Parts: sequence; C-alpha cells; structure tokens
Amino acid sequence: MQKRILLWLIFLGTVVGLGYFLYRYMRPSSGRSIHVIDWLRNPSIHSDWAVQAGTRCLPDAPFVFPTDGFIGYLWNDSFKIGHRHQGLDIFGGTGIGVAPVVSAYPGFLTRLPEWKSAVIVRVPSDPLHPGRQIWLYYAHMADEMGNSFISSEFPPGTYEKRVDAGTLFGYQGDYSGDPVNPVGVHLHFSIVLDDGQGRFRNELDIDNTLDPSPYFGLALNATTAGEDIPACDP
Ligand SMILES: [Zn+2]
Repeated sequence: MQKRILLWLIFLGTVVGLGYFLYRYMRPSSGRSIHVIDWLRNPSIHSDWAVQAGTRCLPDAPFVFPTDGFIGYLWNDSFKIGHRHQGLDIFGGTGIGVAPVVSAYPGFLTRLPEWKSAVIVRVPSDPLHPGRQIWLYYAHMADEMGNSFISSEFPPGTYEKRVDAGTLFGYQGDYSGDPVNPVGVHLHFSIVLDDGQGRFRNELDIDNTLDPSPYFGLALNATTAGEDIPACDP
C-alpha cells in the first residue's frame, strides 16, 4: 500500500515539475502580449511604460535606447514552442515612419544591397568585453511593401560608415517580408556575435546573440525579468 502511495507521489511530482518547466521556459509570452496590445490600443495612457531614443536608464549603461516606445518583447521570449526571440521589440505606439531609430552605440554601419528595412553596426570593441567585436542589428524600418524608412545617408550597399551614438538611422515600420502579414510597428534590435573572421553571425539563432540587459542597465532577459514593465525607474 505504502509503495503505491510512493509511486503516486513520484508520478505527481514529475507531472508538476514538467508542468512548471513548460510554464517557465516554453510558454508563449502571454503576459507581455497583453501589455503590447494595451500599449498599441492607447499609448498615451501608458506613457510611463515608454523609453526615449538617445537616453539611458543608468548613467553608466553603455547603450542609449535606439528608439522611442514600449519594450514589448524581450530577449529569450518565446512566441511559440521551440522559438526564442534573439532581440528586443520596441513598439513606438505610432503609425509607420514616425518613431525615430538611432544608433545605440558608436560603430561602423553596413546595409547590404538587398536590405530594405535593416542596418547592422560593427562595434570593434564590446564595451563590456573589451577586445571582442560585436554587431548591433536594427530591423523593420520599412513599410509592409518594403518601402524603406532608412535615412538616405545609408542607401543599400553602404559599408563601414562611421556612426555615433544617437545618429539617426530612420524610422520604425511594419515590414515583415510578407505584404499580407505585416508586423506591428516596432524596431527589432539585437546584439550579434562576430564569427571570428570579422563577419556577423546568423542573427536568427539566439545562440549567436547576447542578452542586452547589461548593455542597457535594465532587466531585458525574458527568463529572469518576469512580467514587469521593462522601463526605467522614475
Ligand atoms: Zn523581434
């Protein structure tokens, strides 16, 4: 009899443990999606949720915020099982082509000839790991048809153009690559590792990206940030 109870307890423990694991690490970021919807419906009543382009939370944070808006999705968020978000999604709460996108840190900008909505900036020395080269990727700066909102200073085929923190790159858009299914107006920002040969690694794989939290001085890792609004303390 006692053995059966023990087996049941082991079984229950396994189910609860597995459930907790799925909840903690695999669940879609439902709480954050609710906040994103709230924000997009009425940004003005949630103005305390927004960060401002060119500002930082802490005076010693290396990066300034690259755009205005609500940081709706974090690094390592999961939209569907097996997927992990490689960057931050910052929603301007405006129409397309309005919210400015600026450089978070000085570096050298490249826009590949085929890039409609994105630029990438080479940072020769990671401010948190001096000597390591990293890349900062900025995307969704075009409308759903692929008409670019990137500044004419950075046409397709731009290589290694020097930029400073705060240099204007363009404006947030809703380009997704599929005109029928545009995304909400936002900036996708990520920190990408170098391949050791002076090229950026594939940004789509989270293992090739870095947790942006220490660079902005703000909890931006989905697994540890909880569902609090990621904004600077007043
Ligand atoms: Zn994103």
